[in-house]
Amino acid sequence: MTTTTAPPTATATAARATDLSKVYGEGETRVVALDAVSVEFRSGEFTAIMGPSGSGKSTLMHCMAGLDTVSAGSARIGDTELASLKDKQLTKLRRDKIGFIFQAFNLLPTLTAAENITLPMDIAGRKPDQEWLDRVVETVGLAGRLKHRPSQLSGGQQQRVAVARALASRPEIIFADEPTGNLDSRAGAEILGFLRNSVRELGQTVVMVTHDPVAASYADRVVFLADGRIVDELHGPTADTVLERMRNLPGGSDRTPGDAKPRTS
Ligand code: ADP
Repeated sequence: MTTTTAPPTATATAARATDLSKVYGEGETRVVALDAVSVEFRSGEFTAIMGPSGSGKSTLMHCMAGLDTVSAGSARIGDTELASLKDKQLTKLRRDKIGFIFQAFNLLPTLTAAENITLPMDIAGRKPDQEWLDRVVETVGLAGRLKHRPSQLSGGQQQRVAVARALASRPEIIFADEPTGNLDSRAGAEILGFLRNSVRELGQTVVMVTHDPVAASYADRVVFLADGRIVDELHGPTADTVLERMRNLPGGSDRTPGDAKPRTS
């Protein structure tokens, strides 16, 4: 009798960088912001990207999200190689497959919360899936606030609107750049909880850039960058284990924000 073992479940890759390099400037001002970075972001996973100031976190996010071009190597969203796309196709991919959450909430002041949430889809001429939208609004705790304008909402509530807006079109991946940077710790914890719930309960994929070990502890996985290279990775992080790894990064403990030096080679 033969026993068959089920093959390990293959998890889809939502985005992937392969030997991705990004160089800014030339000659004296040449900076290698990313140096042959290879990293995979699996579907349904919450990844935090951490590293000292100037280590390449934002550059990596911008290259992966098609907001910046790569100098060498590749950035893929799903199976799509971003460098192969023309401007129009790239705009469409960003609109259809990627959600963004920034530190500044970027809401339109004259629109209600509900209108802000569906704005990107309205612009794209896509009809929101009402059932999904209701779940999103419920997940981020905005029911009852949908008719409010941003000025009538607290910072934390405004960021919830931004989270709901990113989730509304059910994108393949959400990139969040210091999403709690402008919030007090309680509102920040709420937003991080909602992001985690969107991954656990709604199956979203989230990649978040942060310098805060507590924020990173909400993720399933933390990827550490130093000097444009991936130098470490942690699964099931806690604020303490993240902090400890940060201290052991090259240049991690004694480098203060803003003192990143251009590297010439
Ligand atoms: P982080 O997000 O980790 O603080 P960045 O990705 O912003 O790091 O920056 C990585 C490196 O690339 C830094 O040395 C930074 O000065 C440089 N850099 C980033 N953007 C530009 C740019 N547009 N022009 C020139 N240098 C840049």
